[in-house]
Amino acid sequence: MCLFCKIINREEVGYFVYEDDNFVAFLDKFPAVPGHTLLVAKRHYDNILEMPNDYLSNLAKPLKIVSIGVMRALKADGIRILTNVGRSAGQVIFHTHIHLIPSWSLSYPSGYENFIARKEQPKEYYEKTARIIKEEIDNLLKLQLI
Ligand SMILES: [Zn+2]
Repeated sequence: MCLFCKIINREEVGYFVYEDDNFVAFLDKFPAVPGHTLLVAKRHYDNILEMPNDYLSNLAKPLKIVSIGVMRALKADGIRILTNVGRSAGQVIFHTHIHLIPSWSLSYPSGYENFIARKEQPKEYYEKTARIIKEEIDNLLKLQLI
């Protein structure tokens, strides 16, 4: 079973911020920036182009809600939404996932001044960041803003 299938099955640690019938979102273990989140298909497909259209069509809602939740939680004014297909594109885990990478005009939000990219972070990073993103997403869902 692949690493992401194990995280989805709770056989490996993952810091979840969202879950519905078809997709989950959890923090990237080696984040490029604070709040770097992965939106992951619950069913195993090697990449986004391998997914049947009807499954892929369930992506719209979680893509918007998790992206906006990440931006709000991290006080970002932009976000990169990207997915890699194939090794030459930089795909490392061959299970469909979309990177949600927030961006800032100025600097990282307070509390993340000492962030070092692409490293495993202290446990507090994952716990705090997952909590604040999840709170924003739960608010968006509750208020039916999206
Ligand atoms: Zn998998």
